[in-house]
Amino acid sequence: MLDVNKVRADFPILDVEAYPDTPLVFLDSAASSQKPTAVIEAMNRYYRTINANVHRGIYRFSEDATNAYEAARGKVARFINARESAELIFVRNTTEAFNLAAYSWGRANINAGDEILLTEMEHHANIVPWQLLAEEKEAIVRYIPVTADGFLDLSTLDELLTERTKILSFTAVSNVFGTINPIKKLVAAAHAVGALAMVDGAQAVPHMPVDVQAWDCDLFAFSSHKMCGPTGIGGLYGKRALLEAMPPFMGGGDMIRKVTFEGSTFADLPHKFEAGTPAIAEGIGFGAAVDYLNELGMEEIHAYEQFITTYALEELSEVKGLKLWGPPAGKRGGVAAFTIEGLHPHDIADLLDKDGIAVRAGHHCAMPLHKKFGINATTRASFYIHTTTDEVDKLVDSLNRIRKLFRL
Ligand code: PMP
Repeated sequence: MLDVNKVRADFPILDVEAYPDTPLVFLDSAASSQKPTAVIEAMNRYYRTINANVHRGIYRFSEDATNAYEAARGKVARFINARESAELIFVRNTTEAFNLAAYSWGRANINAGDEILLTEMEHHANIVPWQLLAEEKEAIVRYIPVTADGFLDLSTLDELLTERTKILSFTAVSNVFGTINPIKKLVAAAHAVGALAMVDGAQAVPHMPVDVQAWDCDLFAFSSHKMCGPTGIGGLYGKRALLEAMPPFMGGGDMIRKVTFEGSTFADLPHKFEAGTPAIAEGIGFGAAVDYLNELGMEEIHAYEQFITTYALEELSEVKGLKLWGPPAGKRGGVAAFTIEGLHPHDIADLLDKDGIAVRAGHHCAMPLHKKFGINATTRASFYIHTTTDEVDKLVDSLNRIRKLFRL
């Protein structure tokens, strides 16, 4: 099993107190993870020793920066098991990956009356870009329903997934319920009707082994900042033939082959989709994050998260009046969204903060999902490689104190 105390020593922020004499209990990695020293140092080293723009300088620093940046692309591509690094487009984040797909593939392939199939548990990043596209093209967005215990209702698939469906886009892991969806099965179902399959990997890549070839998805989106890497960079994986057929997203420098006053031709993959100076230090940091996770081992990370999540769900279920949302332990990732009767989710988060416990409250960018279940918000604790049973106990103690404070 992962040595959690050893892991904790890799994260300098865990030594910072939330308030005087109050240690930080960071339970919000699903929103954005903390960064290990190796990542911070890799970015620091770039700025201190080889900082220069990439892909254009004919001098040593620029060549070193280009090599480091492209080496990072190779690491990230291998991490999700892409066939080649050219299939990995660097984007700002998962949100940009979906916007790229909807704008580039969507505008070229979606026509009036076509259907785009999503699920009710999607993050807004995998809803809004498709809604914008559907509005422009007079297409239709449909949603696979979610059952009361937080699973996709796959009995609706025959009715919802038809020849009219041009793309099925769904999350691998829900950021609210933690549900781990049957990725291979959904991708195969999409392909069976001739639709494309796009997967939101934002809550999967940090937590479990990912294999885009085994899953056979056509497009796959994820963010560095949720997997120990910096903000400002993420990935869009796509199968080469698909990416080659897609028109560019943004135009400008770096993404062209030749520009004349009359028109332009475009660079090969992956640069066709990367206009302008990229997030160089962030790319290098992303590569270092992948190195770090590989060193721990993704199987070990997943196993540890299953252990700590199971422990947390058991302990939380002992808190009187607390309702846990989503599937049972063993069938979900490391997030626990809950409500407590008589308490507002934001008040809970605010009072937990007084004890140094950082959680998130709100709709977690999944407003339609909350609305479906008749709630405006939940409080969400999320767990990662540095979460200890002691921290979970602190959360539960603090929740019990809050209940007493409100005489519940
Ligand atoms: N999808 C899921 C499932 C997420 O959890 C998130 C982040 N909360 C996103 C997409 C969006 O990620 P980003 O904000 O990095 O674009």
